[in-house]
Amino acid sequence: MEADVVIVGGGPAGMACALRLAQLIDAYNASGVDEPLSKENIYVLEKAREVGQHCLSGALLDPRSMRELLPGFEKEAPIDAEVTKESVWFLTKNGQRKFPIVPPPLEDHGNYVISLNKFVKWMGQKVEEAGITVFTGFAGSEVLWADDSDDPDVARVDGVRTDDKGVDKDGQPKANFEPGYELRAKVTILAEGTRGNCAKEVIGRLGLEDPEHAQTYGLGVKELWEIPAGRVAKGEVIYTLGYPLTTREYGGAWVYGISDTLVSVGYVTGLDYEDPRTDPHHVFQSFKEHPFARRILDGGKMVRYGAKSLPYGGWLTMPRIYGNGWMLLGDSASFLNSQRLKGIHLAIKSGMLAAETAFEALLSGDSSAERLQGYKARVDTSWIHEELWRVRNFHQGFEHGLLEGVVSAAIQQVMRGSILGPDRKNHAGYTRMIHLDEIGPPDLNRGPMIGHARGDGKLTFDRLTDVFHSGTRHDEDQPSHLVVEDLNICSGRCVREYGNPCQYFCPAAVYEMVEIASDGAAAGPAKELRINFTNCVHCKTCDIMDPYQIIQWVPPEGGGGPNYDGM
Ligand code: SF4
Repeated sequence: MEADVVIVGGGPAGMACALRLAQLIDAYNASGVDEPLSKENIYVLEKAREVGQHCLSGALLDPRSMRELLPGFEKEAPIDAEVTKESVWFLTKNGQRKFPIVPPPLEDHGNYVISLNKFVKWMGQKVEEAGITVFTGFAGSEVLWADDSDDPDVARVDGVRTDDKGVDKDGQPKANFEPGYELRAKVTILAEGTRGNCAKEVIGRLGLEDPEHAQTYGLGVKELWEIPAGRVAKGEVIYTLGYPLTTREYGGAWVYGISDTLVSVGYVTGLDYEDPRTDPHHVFQSFKEHPFARRILDGGKMVRYGAKSLPYGGWLTMPRIYGNGWMLLGDSASFLNSQRLKGIHLAIKSGMLAAETAFEALLSGDSSAERLQGYKARVDTSWIHEELWRVRNFHQGFEHGLLEGVVSAAIQQVMRGSILGPDRKNHAGYTRMIHLDEIGPPDLNRGPMIGHARGDGKLTFDRLTDVFHSGTRHDEDQPSHLVVEDLNICSGRCVREYGNPCQYFCPAAVYEMVEIASDGAAAGPAKELRINFTNCVHCKTCDIMDPYQIIQWVPPEGGGGPNYDGM
């Protein structure tokens, strides 16, 4: 299929890009030109069954970019509440201390509490009303290259291939087999969210990641809770640092008041911890057992669950975001402010700027890197740069623990992003994981973050109960979309060195080490990896955090995955 523009990923960045492009084309055509531009061959590919189903965030929206995209959007967009009250707390095992002031980056007055799922669904309607086709249930499964080059100035992206439908678990075609489409596009825009598989292919093949500034990530685990009225006000925002993480790890919790009886509650764990037994799902469950959270949730009911990784690296870890025929947007390109814990407004703005560049490319018939460089130039002169440059050293400051990070953040706040010396390097989080034999004697403070949470079924839950509340569904008769390059590493080296951390970092109980018939060796029963891929909530943590980097997340058959209704 020939296309003018293909946008891979129908999240906030992809939808904003499609909408802005439609606006520009409409304005151009309305200006009385002889050769109007068509919107017919502009497509958005979305891997979920319905728009928004795979969208998950806290979520707070800084409205700045939406006001530029659709002035007055507040009148019709699904907004749950305007933020009217914030507080920040530090939690110890049994205690809590309120920060005397809310640090300026966490001031949220004027921002909106939203469900990203509902918001993106609404954006999708706007895109379709504007005359752009959204294909749901189609993932971009691989990049189509025009040549064999791996030189970013030479290689050209020609489009993407969508996933094959109707393939059985052995890779054989079923009766309903349909091969994927090859969408050959003048401009291919990758907006797949964190660690997008096509974006990863482009970044890897063209060597776009700066080795001194590797991307770093966090994993957010979230639940929606119905609670008795009077505990958290509609529009109230609460952040916590500390328990159950120790000062050696990076992370914290949020509670957002959606209504007087519904809250979004979650915990982000930095994916750069040292102990391979760390379980971010357990971290979140332990947070809920703290008296501070218990007072909010006790007697309430958990109604939804989900998990998503997010890029923490910021400006310095941003790869090159354009090339011959392609651009990268949103979380796929590191547009997230980890100090403010916000990325939706940046994703939307990046989509708008990419749309302006794609529009110029369509008008001129030129989608070379030289032309698409305009996207980077736009980003560099926009408020995105202003916002992200100021916090470019933020996350690296926490590499040696919370205290150093807080001091470093204070210095950067005064020095507008600078630190005393050159910018700090970013190290890939998985490289910080240490071997089991280096961990040392048991540290009782770490218990609530190590190993799986069992759950009491009321306040806390095991992972399978939570996955049930994510609405996740995949056809079982298809190849696993978690591809492990060498299973011998899992049953050998990884058992000894790291104790198979995939069992712990996956928030959906996908990876399980099961005993197999022993070969009689004295070392105890042999184990092998079982992959329960149908549980996968598409958070991409395994692709990011596996210490050997041998797990690849590839798209399952389109339509499979979580259903984040209302999340
Ligand atoms: Fe996330 Fe990977 Fe587990 Fe899927 S298998 S839920 S992508 S960690």
